[in-house]
Amino acid sequence: MRKLSKVVAGALTMAMSAMLLAGCGDSTETSASSEAASTAASAETSSAAASAESASVDADVQAIIDRGVLRVGVKNAVVGFGFQDTLTGEYSGMEISIAEKIADELGVDIEFTTVTAATRGELLDSGDIDCVLATFTITDERRNSWDFSTPYYTDYVSVLVESASGITNLEGLVDKKVGVSSGSTSAKSLTSAMIDAGLIDGSGFDADTFDPALWTTGVSFQQYDDYPAISTALSAGEIDAFCVDKSILAIYNTDSRDYIEEKFSPQEYGVATKKGSGFSAYVEELITEWLADGTIDGFIAENNLD
Ligand code: GLU
Repeated sequence: MRKLSKVVAGALTMAMSAMLLAGCGDSTETSASSEAASTAASAETSSAAASAESASVDADVQAIIDRGVLRVGVKNAVVGFGFQDTLTGEYSGMEISIAEKIADELGVDIEFTTVTAATRGELLDSGDIDCVLATFTITDERRNSWDFSTPYYTDYVSVLVESASGITNLEGLVDKKVGVSSGSTSAKSLTSAMIDAGLIDGSGFDADTFDPALWTTGVSFQQYDDYPAISTALSAGEIDAFCVDKSILAIYNTDSRDYIEEKFSPQEYGVATKKGSGFSAYVEELITEWLADGTIDGFIAENNLD
């Protein structure tokens, strides 16, 4: 694939030369350029295949190649997924490795932007970033707003408490206040797990309209902008528990804290791209290939996530 981008660049150079010679350099359509490239390159037998390949490059993918930078939204405090060293500024984790490999395939540089559960969708919508690899759970509701690749990892939701609270399981969370991140799946997942366990009355629960701010039956929620704020609130006793995916909770599991016994609600992480973007299909092809050839398993193992 990396070869493809070089081929495309070469074909486009020829296309631009052909257009300049023909006095029509104002075309912005990649497919038109590729057709011109095809004509310009027709003298060489080997370039016929290259032209066919370049013609299939989507305009959204080409725009990233032309820019020379892939802009990716990632987490900065999820060990093994997206973690930024505060001293060096370097990012590491499996989501970072996948993002770097996508940039490598495109033959472009990479630029990371730290996102939160609340900001990642907006940044994708505004075009500030091209894709999100940030523990972003694929849900039907979210599929209405963004495209998601096939999942590259599955996590579960759990709950962290101060050990001194004596809470050890879902039952202990009845009538408690739980801290969650704005824009996350966590509150809905926990409420639904407590209903499934027969701990709270689920008659008023509707997964399509659930709002953490309004739910008060058997458990209530306080929403925060980011995870450090939830951790601070837990220490201060403002909330009784901290609920999110286990991958995210890990860094906040200090000596004075414990997970409850249960983990629930599988969270399938996918690469999110702008809805309808040609880049979505490009990413999907790569993720599927890397799931099949063991690349993703390698990243999972490297980051001790198996
Ligand atoms: N993975 C969950 C979600 O997408 C938890 C929130 C987060 O990723 O920060 O809602």
